[in-house]
Amino acid sequence: MGTENGTTAHEQLRLARLRELVALVAERNPFQAARLAGVRLASMDDLRRLPLTSKEELLADQAAHPPHGTNLTYAPDRYTHVHQTSGTLGATLWIPDTAEDWAWMCAGLGAVLRAAGVGPGDRVALAYSFGPYLAFWAAYGGTQAAGAMAVPLGGMDSVQRLQAFEEYRPTVAMCTPTYAVHLARTARSMRLEGALASVRRVICGGEPGASLPAVRAEIEAAWDARCFDQYGLSESGPCGIPCAEHGGIHLREDEFVCEILDPSSGEAVAEGELGELVVTALGRTGYPAIRYRTGDSVRAHGEPCPAGHPGRWLSEGILGRIDDMVVIRGMNVFPTAIEQLLRDSAAIGEFRITFYRDPAAMDEVKVEVELARPLDARAIQARMRHKLGLRVRIVPVQAGVLPVQQGKARRVHDLRRPATAGPLPALAR
Ligand SMILES: [Zn+2]
Repeated sequence: MGTENGTTAHEQLRLARLRELVALVAERNPFQAARLAGVRLASMDDLRRLPLTSKEELLADQAAHPPHGTNLTYAPDRYTHVHQTSGTLGATLWIPDTAEDWAWMCAGLGAVLRAAGVGPGDRVALAYSFGPYLAFWAAYGGTQAAGAMAVPLGGMDSVQRLQAFEEYRPTVAMCTPTYAVHLARTARSMRLEGALASVRRVICGGEPGASLPAVRAEIEAAWDARCFDQYGLSESGPCGIPCAEHGGIHLREDEFVCEILDPSSGEAVAEGELGELVVTALGRTGYPAIRYRTGDSVRAHGEPCPAGHPGRWLSEGILGRIDDMVVIRGMNVFPTAIEQLLRDSAAIGEFRITFYRDPAAMDEVKVEVELARPLDARAIQARMRHKLGLRVRIVPVQAGVLPVQQGKARRVHDLRRPATAGPLPALAR
């Protein structure tokens, strides 16, 4: 790659695509027009002059202008697909795509599958809900973009899915990490272990987890297959592909401009520091994502991935929601770190993490967990103290007491809200 004025050809191409996107959207998209008016992009650094977009703003726009809102670049008859976001906060967006944008979306999922080594001859079982959410449909299109066969398993319960695995012998499974664990456990309890034997690769997405070493190890052991992580949002499209060599995720910096920002200042964090992922999708113009706040917390690895893959390397994957980060006795704690330690402790089942305030107004953490032996509770408490510096009360519960989580897991309860945990911090513009 040659350089000119210190800029690589790759960066020049990205800047040209960004300018084209912003010019088109500023002219035709009512939601964006006022926001982007008068902005000139002389270099990539000028991206910082564009306003950030939050989900709250898109929700308010849709509420004021149902059903799609005004973040539309084209006339409504240009749109051929629509999906709903699966909001953990209860508020969902309708996101329409043109045929061109949908092809871009599927090509992106195709890139996810190819990065995981999937191609012609593979049969990809899609163990996602067959509903209004993007995951199933994008994975379906992506499988075809990768030249593999899609085996749709929406609208089935776990036993029906296991029977389908047994009969059709898929080589790849796509699902959430929570469901990968659940399906393997169901296979064991139903004595259907052989059903998963044909699967060589499990590609997880939809929630963090598959980049956590302990979660990945559990899935790989239970499926006797390799586990890969991927990342994307309905609002943005697929912006993270698996690193097949070293785990974690690579940002797709060819199709996205990705920023990692300090949520309190809005400035880029130093290399290797924790920040919120903000993305601009270069190839989706119909419902554009321009400096879209994902709300997800990431940390780019300080060194490039040893395999030399392009795109910044999030070796730990997605660390959690920015607004999931819990401040407990002055410490920043991600519930995923507690989950990691629980999963490191062998033979645990479901769990529930509760943050609460005791009568003396001290912040406390209680973890109810299904343990193979109640005696393990003390060992886990000691580990939490040692590894996280956190005093945690481990409460063993009998199997079946806690609700089984399958989709986006809701295992964390903060009873202190809103006293110590406010809404998403506002980013400076
Ligand atoms: Zn890599």
